[in-house]
Amino acid sequence: MGETGRRLAAALDELDENALTRERRILEAAQGPHVRIDGATLANFASNDYLSLAADPRLRAAAHRAVDEYGVGSGASPLVCGHSRLHEEAETGFARFVGLPRALLFPSGYAANLGIVASLAGRDSEVFSDALNHACLIDGARLSRAQVTPYRHADLDDLEAKLAASRARERVVATDAVFSMDGDLAPLPGMLQLCERYDAWLVVDDAHGIGVMGERGRGSLEHFGLASPRIVLMATLGKALGGYGAFAAGEPEAIEWLMQRARTYIYSTALPPMAAAVAIEAMRIVDAEPERLAALRARIAELRAALRGLGVETRSSSAVHPIVLGANGDALFASTRLRERGFLVPAIRPPTVPQGTARLRISLAAGHASRDIEGLAAALAGCLGR
Ligand SMILES: *Cc1c(COP(=O)(O)O)cnc(C)c1O
Repeated sequence: MGETGRRLAAALDELDENALTRERRILEAAQGPHVRIDGATLANFASNDYLSLAADPRLRAAAHRAVDEYGVGSGASPLVCGHSRLHEEAETGFARFVGLPRALLFPSGYAANLGIVASLAGRDSEVFSDALNHACLIDGARLSRAQVTPYRHADLDDLEAKLAASRARERVVATDAVFSMDGDLAPLPGMLQLCERYDAWLVVDDAHGIGVMGERGRGSLEHFGLASPRIVLMATLGKALGGYGAFAAGEPEAIEWLMQRARTYIYSTALPPMAAAVAIEAMRIVDAEPERLAALRARIAELRAALRGLGVETRSSSAVHPIVLGANGDALFASTRLRERGFLVPAIRPPTVPQGTARLRISLAAGHASRDIEGLAAALAGCLGR
């Protein structure tokens, strides 16, 4: 091992001493509410496949048809020659789905947020970022070279004070709509009012809201009944919608600007046409089968009741429910005990969450049965020592 390798080995040892090493589990069958790992079947409370669509036969069939017709790779960036009829239809369909004028298909949610924030903000801008925002909003703000001003989590007063003090030429407020590790909602109506008062963009990351929030599963904007030319919405296809990729949506000028300027759009190969076909079919299913969302909501209500019974406080009405344990080792230990009992629940540790707030993160899916929730609650009672 060379000198450079030895430094990394020492850094890796330090991660291990702090119970921060992460491992991958090898899935031996399709993603779903139950998964096979190491020959065992586990109830899966780790996935973001909230509507249990990732292995749906109709999504598989849509992918097969697209592969037959368009092949596998899209061959180039969308602006060169990678934008197919399927990509175009997915964009139109998504704009209609969320009730915004225009949408643009990005290679991933990570790429979308980098592209959105870094092209709306520049050197003369200020980006206001919730303290618990997802890593890719934070990275987008850094990439933009704007001044970055974090505000206290979901705190409208703190956001207003910071907006009022801003002297920047352009202001961008960026937030998760449903926070990925807490499951709580950003106060979007109040945030939009502040963006109007202080002339700012509102970038809304609905990775965990699309398909889950709102009467018809159209996301957090539907949940709050919000529409505004100041909003640029980002929603991923890899979570409730069961596929891969992401959309940005908003006013025609904002989306045209992203198409012309977002580097993660311009300099990256278009998604495989198959991913666009899967998105179209997933949106159709969300519309046609409201019972999936109803089942997810029923499981959410059951879990909330069970957690209250265990004395665990829960502020989440989404599919994501944290149990904050504090120490990294405690979260890891609880996760391991749960797995031994047949439940896959990840231990989420820093830097994904703030220091001292390591947690179990339970995510629910439409395909879970009531007895899965009952089983999980019983196992938790044993593992948490309550
Ligand atoms: C998963 C996630 C992303 C990234 O989306 P990908 O399509 O997986 O790259 C962005 N924001 C939030 C809040 C997420 O949870």
